[in-house]
Amino acid sequence: MLRIAVQSKGRLYDETMELLGEAGIKLTAVKRSLLVPSKNFPVEVLFLRDDDIPDTVATGTADIGIVGLNEVLEKNRKVHIVRNLGFSKCRLSLAVPNAANYTGLEWFNGKKVATSYPVILRKFFASKGIAADLHEISGSVEVAPGIGLADAIFDIVSSGSTLISNNLSEVEKVIDSEAVMIGGQPLSEEKQEILDELLFRIEAVKVAGDKKYILMNVPKDSLDTVLEILPGIKSPTVLPLADAEWCSVHTVLDEKCFWEIINRLKAAGAEGILALDIEKMVL
Ligand code: ATP
Ligand code: MG
Repeated sequence: MLRIAVQSKGRLYDETMELLGEAGIKLTAVKRSLLVPSKNFPVEVLFLRDDDIPDTVATGTADIGIVGLNEVLEKNRKVHIVRNLGFSKCRLSLAVPNAANYTGLEWFNGKKVATSYPVILRKFFASKGIAADLHEISGSVEVAPGIGLADAIFDIVSSGSTLISNNLSEVEKVIDSEAVMIGGQPLSEEKQEILDELLFRIEAVKVAGDKKYILMNVPKDSLDTVLEILPGIKSPTVLPLADAEWCSVHTVLDEKCFWEIINRLKAAGAEGILALDIEKMVL
């Protein structure tokens, strides 16, 4: 049985549960802040606050965990990254009041900076030779300059709208973050096998994520032109249609690529073009 620590509620919760679900892991009942076994896969899920996940994994209370890279770096426990998961993308940045006369990093010398990430910020300032005064607060960091608690902030930014509504400007990005799977203690052979199977399934879900299954009808005399346009995985499938002048072409494409070539496919005579989601894909 492999024990996975995940956030019990918050910004990581939905996508973590979606990922486990897509990997075919069904939980018996999702009662939060509990240990919940899967009914069809040898894993159990331990629901925690995200702050507690790095330590729980480092000490071996959980075998692996799913948490933001920002939290991993801040807690600085003995864990390693097993896999980047690509969701909950954000960055940790320094922001100053719009009215500040920001000239560069040296502006922070002697300034008071409010943050929930003192470890990461202290390390960053030390590496740049900046002597600032760090003021640790656990939430609502963005209001600190407005109420005179600090001169600037260091916090999570994603769209930047929170900064804008608090009259702050992002001036330095310090790290990029996303959800990561972390491991700690060496795993038994049995647990390693379960983790390998889980990673294999996650890979299949992730590979399929930005791909589309494309079908289209093509006049036979345009087939060569269409095949030249299509960058298929190996070679596209070409099937006959009831009308002997036409055939059906199937292939798998990156979604981005689909939009790039759609007009050329139409110009080459392709019709009835369908793009379908792919749930899983094993290369
Ligand atoms: P907990 O109650 O578990 O301690 P929390 O309040 O500390 O939760 P959340 O706000 O749920 O944390 O955020 C969890 C993680 O999601 C963050 O550590 C970060 O990695 C990521 N995250 C936070 N804000 C955003 C955002 N706006 N966009 C994308 N990802 C984000
Ligand atoms: Mg937290």
